[in-house]
Amino acid sequence: MSEKKVYVPVEATKFVEFDPKVCTGCPTLEEPRCVKACRMDMLIKNPEHGKPPLVIYSDECCDCGCCVHACPRALQGAIKMNYPISENVRWKDKATGKHYRIGMPNPPPPNQRPPSGGWYPENKEP
Ligand code: SF4
Ligand code: SF4
Repeated sequence: MSEKKVYVPVEATKFVEFDPKVCTGCPTLEEPRCVKACRMDMLIKNPEHGKPPLVIYSDECCDCGCCVHACPRALQGAIKMNYPISENVRWKDKATGKHYRIGMPNPPPPNQRPPSGGWYPENKEP
């Protein structure tokens, strides 16, 4: 019997990144939490047991962050978002406290409040 191979496209962008040292691949679940949460269906379970999901159609990521929020190990770095540079770069005028961002002269400061209900309330690892 021939060995089954899975081919995934080369990622043109890396909006979502996994740390294989932290991500368990959700081995007890039929579908990893982040895969299930992805609204663009661009993640698939890794056929190799215990390895991070595979990213397919990387260009279709809409930066929603649902995959990160669904992961119980996200705060340890299992999965992270790389936001586009226009979202990432910001600076603060120390004198006035005003924030600046590309294409946006005075955006509100970064939102550091936890999501309603707190961080990852339903996603305790089994
Ligand atoms: S939910 Fe977290 S631990 Fe599970 S596969 Fe996704 S990134 Fe890995
Ligand atoms: S950020 Fe949203 S669209 Fe992108 S992989 Fe995560 S859940 Fe899917």
